[in-house]
Amino acid sequence: MKKGKIFVVGFGPGDREHITNRAVVALQQSDCIIGYKTYVELIEHLVTAKSIVSTGMTEEVSRAQDAVKKAEAGHIVSVISSGDSGVYGMAGLVYEVLIEKGWTEKDGIAVEIVPGISAINSCASLLGAPVMHDSCTISLSDHLTPWTVIEKRIEAAAVADFVIALYNPKSGRRTRQIVEAQNILLKYRSPDTPVGLVKSAYRENQNVVLTTLAEMLEHDIGMLTTVIIGNSSTFFYDNKIITPRGYQRKYTLGEEKQSLKPHQRLKKEAEPWALNQETGEAQAGYEQIERKKQEVTSLDLALKALSMVTKSKIEHPHVVQQPIEDIFEFAVSPGVANKFITPDQMRVLAETIGDTGTMEYTPDHRFLVKIPTTQPESIVEKLEQNHLTVMPVGDVLNVKACDFCYGEKAESIPYAEEIAAKLGGLKLPKELHIGFNGCGMACYRAVFDDIGIVYRKKKFDLFIGAKPVGRTAHAAQPVAEGIETDQLLPLLTKIIEEYKQNAHPNERLFKYFKRVKSIQYFNYQDMSSKIEVEPAPCGD
Ligand code: SF4
Repeated sequence: MKKGKIFVVGFGPGDREHITNRAVVALQQSDCIIGYKTYVELIEHLVTAKSIVSTGMTEEVSRAQDAVKKAEAGHIVSVISSGDSGVYGMAGLVYEVLIEKGWTEKDGIAVEIVPGISAINSCASLLGAPVMHDSCTISLSDHLTPWTVIEKRIEAAAVADFVIALYNPKSGRRTRQIVEAQNILLKYRSPDTPVGLVKSAYRENQNVVLTTLAEMLEHDIGMLTTVIIGNSSTFFYDNKIITPRGYQRKYTLGEEKQSLKPHQRLKKEAEPWALNQETGEAQAGYEQIERKKQEVTSLDLALKALSMVTKSKIEHPHVVQQPIEDIFEFAVSPGVANKFITPDQMRVLAETIGDTGTMEYTPDHRFLVKIPTTQPESIVEKLEQNHLTVMPVGDVLNVKACDFCYGEKAESIPYAEEIAAKLGGLKLPKELHIGFNGCGMACYRAVFDDIGIVYRKKKFDLFIGAKPVGRTAHAAQPVAEGIETDQLLPLLTKIIEEYKQNAHPNERLFKYFKRVKSIQYFNYQDMSSKIEVEPAPCGD
């Protein structure tokens, strides 16, 4: 019988340019490809295999078992991982399954681990050169590793001044881990330590953010983000993060002739920090080394190099104060009730966004804008001067109103605007939409928002807890009719305050209402369909 083989292929970040030739050959030699759905989609165009098996996120063990079974039946199988197959990839699992079956290299099926570029490398390349010195990777996923162990590893890496790449920093359900990691790191590192956040390196939705240890949580960190934290020497330079290669006295940048000749560089005197080979003791304490580093810093060296390239003297403060460009993300619309945007407003918006930003029209009748900038305040000022409404996005409160029959039923517009002014943009455990409709027709579907408000007979009807999306979507529960106009905002404020204080992170209002069974004095009723439907996670 034909002898089978398993390739465990790391295909790197996911684009064609960064996959190795060996990986492509392995994929093309295989008659079966097995992998996580999203990864299979990324490499599908490179594959000629007759059979492709793509399964869900938590089915790694069955993928490894399936691969072994197929290879034992004589097939050539590629099990794929993004990044490197041996770094949080499938390589270990495939070996574990084989070992369980008593496999040996001599008698068993052939196994070849095909390496790929791991996220620490691909992400570092987009940030500059942050991983130039001793570094480590730590996964914050505590699905397979106890959190107490992860905590110890973070602490040890922080104490030892490693550059750290955090994998799996956050997901829908794991939101605390990155907060705890930051707290541990801040015990040992300056709040100004450079941090790079890279999402989907070399893929379509790539996003790179340079920030600091103190401010990193103010940015979007998700499942696809890798967080790279510099060591005590790492610095920002020209929108890059650089970690110097070593201590300055070993080499002098810009000098063609190094002050120390090659043979002198290896002498004891040139390495006061090295381990004494006779006594087994370090020749100088860490503090002494730190003091020496401060005499001529890495930044000094970088400035010297830049001065040479530009042939002009570059002053220290000029570069130290160099601002970091962040992606400023916000929503913009012509107003709460107004749905008409003028050509002049569009022009201003287009100019502001320029060639480097993006603008997306959303189902909420607003534009989602992303602009790399160092001056978000001036952008807001410019748009507001042109009568555009700018709102934060993410887990905040958003007020959506109808067009009040093109302004003909304008009576309740001031109430909608007041709610937007007082509560709009409020940071919450999860995004929350208040739908405000100007009459009982409710044609802008206020009753399908987290909170629905319908103006009727000069009073308000209130709805709470719609599940706006998904196959089990349902309308909100009508909780009160005929609320007096002066009572609406105080009541809404109390509801929002209660939700903000007591909801779990990421818990949407309908889930919170269902869990606690009452909000203010309104009791929960099940509004979901009684027809059972199979749960369908994202993408399935
Ligand atoms: S909800 Fe009523 S007021 Fe608003 S647009 Fe529809 S019909 Fe007009």
